[in-house]
Amino acid sequence: MAFERSEQLYQEAQDVILGGVNSPSRAYKGVGGGTPVFMKKAKGAYFWDEDGNHYIDYLAAYGPIITGHAHPHITKAIQEAAEDGVLYGTPTVHENTFAGMLREAIPSLERVRFVNSGTEAVMTTIRVARAYTGRDKIIKFAGCYHGHSDLVLVAAGSGPSTTGNPDSAGVTESIAKEVITVPFNDSEAFKEALDYWGDDIAGVLVEPIVGNFGIVEPKPGFLEAVNDLAHEAGALVIYDEVITAFRFMYGGAQNLLGVEPDLTALGKIIGGGLPIGAYGGKRAIMEEVSPLGPAYQAGTMAGNPASIKAGIACLEVLKEPNVYENLDQLGEQLEAGIRNAADKHNIPVTVNRLKGALTIYFDIDEVSNYEDAENSNGEMFAYFFKEMLKRGVNLAPSKYEAWFLTTAHTKEDVRKTSEIVDKVFSNWNNA
Ligand code: PMP
Repeated sequence: MAFERSEQLYQEAQDVILGGVNSPSRAYKGVGGGTPVFMKKAKGAYFWDEDGNHYIDYLAAYGPIITGHAHPHITKAIQEAAEDGVLYGTPTVHENTFAGMLREAIPSLERVRFVNSGTEAVMTTIRVARAYTGRDKIIKFAGCYHGHSDLVLVAAGSGPSTTGNPDSAGVTESIAKEVITVPFNDSEAFKEALDYWGDDIAGVLVEPIVGNFGIVEPKPGFLEAVNDLAHEAGALVIYDEVITAFRFMYGGAQNLLGVEPDLTALGKIIGGGLPIGAYGGKRAIMEEVSPLGPAYQAGTMAGNPASIKAGIACLEVLKEPNVYENLDQLGEQLEAGIRNAADKHNIPVTVNRLKGALTIYFDIDEVSNYEDAENSNGEMFAYFFKEMLKRGVNLAPSKYEAWFLTTAHTKEDVRKTSEIVDKVFSNWNNA
């Protein structure tokens, strides 16, 4: 495969766009750099790049594209939205419809607000939790990504009684002091943190199923313990379901796991590929938000008809029979293909999979928290990523990300992908 045009475009991009990309992971930082492929067109499970190369796509735009690219039903909704005007700045009936659909699917969303990104959704849930409890601090779990607002760009302190350090230049020490980070799947560490800070904690922010150091499920009882202990301490529980909502079932991870948070942040899939975020929760808590309450949140683009109509169309597709069963079957086939190839060629991999999402970790036996994921072999992943790309399989460029199957992938796509994995693993020693 030649990447000449991508190389040229990347050069040009760096002259006008900071770093050549509009989101840092696109610069292949997670795999040691290189030239990002410039995609030209996407349809179903496939990408075509500017050099004319063809790929099977498992990036799915980092999660939103669960129905495949340019799904006809969603495309039609976007076309109709364009005809009728994409932005009004007034309420529309479509927002009522969509909020109702979300609440029907995720009953804890007694009241909902639409925003424009996952970042905004999470940022606002924290503000609401602070407004409702009158407290300042939050607890989050190490390695979970919650967007790029100040409070969630804070790295772990060294123990339950220490607060975090800024994880980004421009995030102040005083903000980092408001955040306590504990390991995921560790109820004891969580309890210790609450014992120390309990009266100051406004909210506990958690990805109920982690998507940001690969796919990591909560251990039995962990989320129940988070809920019980947080509530005992008078703190709210906030689920960041930006990746998980509608990924594993028609509804949230909270439905799948049978645990209910006070507030939920949503994004990605619910926009059908257009920019969106949403947050919601118990009515009494949401009533803190303007115009009913004193916590402010607003948005020129919030609830715009294009994103809302695309979101409605996307959920309509996901509501069809057998969608999630099929995604699970494809996931099972892909996992088996990867495991068989790894066994055959003695490549040490661990695959974490839940339905149509999975992560391959190299050189580590089990991944149940961020430290495990960190200890997986990044060089092996980087090599694997680049070899897969050269053979026409587009993955997320980081050992911390997931492969996402879509309703557009076929068994044949997965069979071909497994064959390519086998080829890459069989050549491993020639690297
Ligand atoms: N929360 C989670 C769990 C995410 O994975 C992401 C994005 N990867 C965000 C929040 C931020 O969403 P956005 O990029 O739409 O701002």
